[in-house]
Amino acid sequence: MKLLDGKTAMITGAASPRGLGKATAQLFAQHGARVAILDLQAHDAIDAAKDLPGDGHMGLACDVTDLQQCRDAVQVIEELFGRIDVLVNNAGITQPLKLMDIAPDNYDAVLDVNLRGTLYMSQAVIPLMRAAKAGAIVNMSSVSAQRGGGIFGGPHYSAAKAGILGLTKAMARELAPDGVRANAICPGFIATDITAGKLTDEMRAQVLAGIPMGRAGEASDVAGCALFLASELSAYVTGSEVDVNGGSLIH
Ligand code: NAD
Repeated sequence: MKLLDGKTAMITGAASPRGLGKATAQLFAQHGARVAILDLQAHDAIDAAKDLPGDGHMGLACDVTDLQQCRDAVQVIEELFGRIDVLVNNAGITQPLKLMDIAPDNYDAVLDVNLRGTLYMSQAVIPLMRAAKAGAIVNMSSVSAQRGGGIFGGPHYSAAKAGILGLTKAMARELAPDGVRANAICPGFIATDITAGKLTDEMRAQVLAGIPMGRAGEASDVAGCALFLASELSAYVTGSEVDVNGGSLIH
């Protein structure tokens, strides 16, 4: 069964070859969606879109920290696709800093991409979804928001991802009367380029020891959850945070 037949989706930060956004784009395309991949560099986004199964996908440059770029990207996608059914706010960066080492530019960088970017891209898309009286927004938070870090990102990353949870819930409440749903995913430790080469063997062993399922997550594990939240399978789910963490946080 194809769960997104005839639907269109846009996914931010989805050009990273081993990333959660790209895996989500792959799965959405397999399920019949036309997908727009957004990332910092146009050529990366275009290449990633070419890699997707099926026709009609697109890739374009968009820095989610810039509201005008978000608006412009949505306009281009709407012109090509005619509608936007699903937004996945996936773009994110992290930094392994201790509390007292967070300088103003660290704070700005991490909060801007993760939290401001989620707000800006949602603001750019919501008018279309409201007009259509339908839409699904999926925001990428982290287990780091729920347990105060403990994997890689510093306190400013935990704060940004916790901010995404609050934003998601408030968006869900405000948008529900318009038929638009908003949910968050809280991935645990997933092996992607966000931590590639940056984790010591000791850090990795410590993280794995805290995962009851005994393995790091795969990008496809997160993509499956995103597909559920983007599709009609989750028609009555809004304002939720869904854990994809192998049991590393059970609460
Ligand atoms: P990744 O580094 O592989 O991909 C992130 C992508 O975001 C990159 O392609 C990057 O170019 C893009 N990006 C960065 N700044 C951007 C900006 N300003 N505008 C647009 N795009 C931008 O990382 P990933 O592991 O695939 O992470 C995807 C999301 O999942 C992030 O929000 C991350 O915080 C979250 N997450 C990841 C993990 C994990 O263990 N991998 C766990 C929890 C949450």
